[in-house]
Amino acid sequence: MDKDQKILVVGSANTDMVIRVDEFPSAGQTLMGHSFLLNPGGKGANQAVAAARLGGQVAMIARLGNDLFGNQTIENFRKEGLNVDGVVLDNKLPSGVAQIVVEKSGENTIVVAGGANQALNTRQVNKYYNLLQESEVILLQLEIPLDTVLYVAKKATSLGKKVILNPAPASKLPNELYSNIYAITPNETETKFLTGTKITGEESAQHAANYFHDKGVKVVVITLGVAGAFLSTPNFAGTLPTLEVEAVDTTAAGDTFNGALAAGLSKGMNWQEAVTFANKAAALSVTKHGAQASVPFLKDIQE
Ligand code: ADP
Repeated sequence: MDKDQKILVVGSANTDMVIRVDEFPSAGQTLMGHSFLLNPGGKGANQAVAAARLGGQVAMIARLGNDLFGNQTIENFRKEGLNVDGVVLDNKLPSGVAQIVVEKSGENTIVVAGGANQALNTRQVNKYYNLLQESEVILLQLEIPLDTVLYVAKKATSLGKKVILNPAPASKLPNELYSNIYAITPNETETKFLTGTKITGEESAQHAANYFHDKGVKVVVITLGVAGAFLSTPNFAGTLPTLEVEAVDTTAAGDTFNGALAAGLSKGMNWQEAVTFANKAAALSVTKHGAQASVPFLKDIQE
């Protein structure tokens, strides 16, 4: 018998269209770029893929357009071993896309059109309620409607599930959401946005964590980039370091971290173990270019 718990991600899927340029175009200008890349992306999809590559049994509830990108995305999900029963192809809206322009300096600009992601509603969640019932770890982000996020958090918490919210991209959250999640995983920017506290060391990290604890969140994980992550639970508080690596591209470091965290917990790790595992996975992801392309597999971590 397989004792691993199942993971459910209710979240976004996008197709990233990346063009490299020497310098950003100005308004009205047409510019010849260099390379063009079409990459699977979206925080929900990235985190689901990371959790699956790192050994998790992952189902996804997502909404795509019934178009080229949507069909390609669902194919990719299958290839990654995700349960796609809850992935719907919308016949009216296009798939979510992100247009990314990367300058020679490495600086980028990104425009996202959410498309079908914005129609991932509570009706769709109800239709695939069995996925919620059979999963123990529920991973959420903020690239789908907030109403849906809140609905899933409330239902899952009432069923006794462990709900992890990665509050990205940062947006103001209702108190009702905080009281219906088990854990929150902001980075430093999101922490500052949500709590008003700038992280300068452990004291400020604990201060920020207490903001979330006071609102009912049991576990707070603040990711600190090269410094690892600060973990605050009812019986542990402290910074867990990450691996020292040569960073070439930090795209999706946070997504890899969150997927790995869910995978670790689903395999019975405690929070300290799961954060350490997530630090390792995320550190490996920054040594490679790309979003999903940089997400490591379990065997990479074991080496
Ligand atoms: P985000 O990518 O969301 O901005 P962070 O920058 O905090 O989030 O990175 C998430 C995690 O990725 C960190 O907690 C750490 O484990 C890992 N990480 C990020 N940057 C580096 C780095 N330069 N070296 C090693 N690990 C890193």
